[in-house]
Amino acid sequence: FEGERIAKAMARAGACSRRDAELWISEGRVSVNGRRLANPAFNVTESDSIEVDGRPLAERERTRLFLFHKPPGLVTSARDPEGRRTVFEHIKEQNPDLPRLISVGRLDINTQGLLLLSNDGGLARALELPATGWRRRYRVRAHGETSQAALDQLAQGVEIEGVAYAPIEAKLDRQQGSNTWISMTLVEGKNREVKRVLGHLGLEVTRLIRVSFGPFQLGELDEGAIEEVRLKVLREQLG
Ligand code: URA
Repeated sequence: FEGERIAKAMARAGACSRRDAELWISEGRVSVNGRRLANPAFNVTESDSIEVDGRPLAERERTRLFLFHKPPGLVTSARDPEGRRTVFEHIKEQNPDLPRLISVGRLDINTQGLLLLSNDGGLARALELPATGWRRRYRVRAHGETSQAALDQLAQGVEIEGVAYAPIEAKLDRQQGSNTWISMTLVEGKNREVKRVLGHLGLEVTRLIRVSFGPFQLGELDEGAIEEVRLKVLREQLG
């Protein structure tokens, strides 16, 4: 038993979703080493050549990376079981010519700000790992009062309900009535991390904006707009 399920390999190559791959196999459009597949329960290795509609999967577009200013109200998932509008639907409608994109991690529905996307599934997955050492910076508005001393507790790392969070830098920017503005720098992107760690300090996040991700800044990118990272910059940042 070696290799991996063909649908998984195709999705990882950025060719399609696993579900698409399974559909195409059942439609008889996929072949491996020249033989048409009938069964999606098939394993492949790097040395197998996969074709879809007679064209090699390897004939892919070059790796591209995009910066998107996610507006609040969109979900970051390929399909939403509740039928809410997704980031991908929004991008496809605005820019029908873009390739199929995979997001680098996720932002919650009500979070806005910088979301990276790539046509290369392997790259997208690699960039979301804490192993990159890339920092994610957020501007937060929270309901409740706090102090710099309270926020400093996060610099030691906290454990909440059995989940350990890496040290977080948090700076109290201003307190306006019952609203507090905080700048935060995280080195990982655990599920709902900002909301959970601030909730732990008795604060309720009411607005969350991601202003940077690794070397990439939200800058002046308009809400809802997408911009491609120039090839030269991509090479400099990714080597
Ligand atoms: N932390 C959160 O709680 N939500 C996000 O969308 C991102 C970071």
